[in-house]
Amino acid sequence: MIRLYDTMAREKREFVPADPKRITMYVCGPTVYGRAHIGNARPAVVFDMLRRLIRHHHGAESLVYARNVTDVDDKIIASAAAEGVDTSVITERYERFYLEDMGALGVAPPDIAPHATDEIGPMVEMIGELVASGHAYAAEGHVLFSVASDADYGALSRRDREAMIAGARVEVAPYKRDPADFVLWKPSAADVVGWDSPWGRGRPGWHIECSAMIRAHLGETIDIHGGGLDLIFPHHENEIAQSRCAHGGRPLANYWVHNGFVDMGAEKMSKSLGNVVLVNDLLDAGHKGEVLRLALLSGHYRSPLPWTESLIAQSKATLDGLYRAAGDAEAGAVDAGVVEALSDDLNTPLAMARLGALGDAGSVRASAQLLGLLTMSADEWFRGGEGGDIEARIAARAEAKARRDFGEADRIRSELAGEGVLLEDGPGGTTWRRT
Ligand SMILES: [Zn+2]
Repeated sequence: MIRLYDTMAREKREFVPADPKRITMYVCGPTVYGRAHIGNARPAVVFDMLRRLIRHHHGAESLVYARNVTDVDDKIIASAAAEGVDTSVITERYERFYLEDMGALGVAPPDIAPHATDEIGPMVEMIGELVASGHAYAAEGHVLFSVASDADYGALSRRDREAMIAGARVEVAPYKRDPADFVLWKPSAADVVGWDSPWGRGRPGWHIECSAMIRAHLGETIDIHGGGLDLIFPHHENEIAQSRCAHGGRPLANYWVHNGFVDMGAEKMSKSLGNVVLVNDLLDAGHKGEVLRLALLSGHYRSPLPWTESLIAQSKATLDGLYRAAGDAEAGAVDAGVVEALSDDLNTPLAMARLGALGDAGSVRASAQLLGLLTMSADEWFRGGEGGDIEARIAARAEAKARRDFGEADRIRSELAGEGVLLEDGPGGTTWRRT
């Protein structure tokens, strides 16, 4: 039995899918106008982990996992204007990069990846329903959701009205009846991407995109809705309001699951703060995707994750150890203790501790693969790719030291030094750099 912390209930709950043969999960995906940073990668990796766990418990065909692509947005429009290209040039480029970067972290593509620009019809339809039922109104080419029409608004974030208005950083616009009202549709100037609608030529707001695509692809009420903590308000609150009001009060999701931030120093990593570490820069620096994946899974998903060099080094050392333990073994039985840890609200730190204590090589490999780790052979891991040979010799030196053969350890260090490779022993293991 999987237990998940549900943000709506503010407690861990047993995960009971409405239909165990068709479990539905939706995670808010990228707005494609720039390279993904490691903070953007955290939800992709966390929900990839949850996907593997659900399939382990309920069967390979049990889950439909959808992650959207936001390919119409003011930032995309601004990027396209700056480059003097069509918005599709920007969105296709950065979607490709996103899939490449996440693929390197062992994140499989979702089963369904709806694109906002392909789903304007379902959005216009839902907006029309909300207008007809008095939950939305048209004004000056815009359509706005009327927050006052929804008595349950704010249930997820539990904010009072003043905090919600401040948190949404809403503009007080003359066409709004209430400053808390949010945009479902907005007008597009002639030179800006847009679609015809009953309210004039325009484009959708961000929130309606998810509500309409969830209904179109997964149904009115889904099992799990996920995303980063920063999406709780206003994005998920607004998704809930739209969907519940369009569906006679039926809930949008039965479980709300949110991952914490990746921190740089004391601050959340974010594009707007300018303190981002890009996934592709880490890969280009020679870090293996599996190392970055483990680094992202090393803390509990709901806790903040401080991103440091030593976290990367520690994750690499842990994987070296696991690859040595698994050796050439084929995947055997998944360890029950590892499954139990992951099933308790994705307790990856406990799962990793249990994994490290396993004695059976086949079980190490199978259990690690449940976390998306140990996907290659030990030989590939130590020898493959750039620096693979150096890594293999560092591993051989560590083994020599472990059996107290310091002569051999020193010989390997000198040999590498002769090739211009300097070894540095630290608390997270041995790293190397060229002199
Ligand atoms: Zn969303």
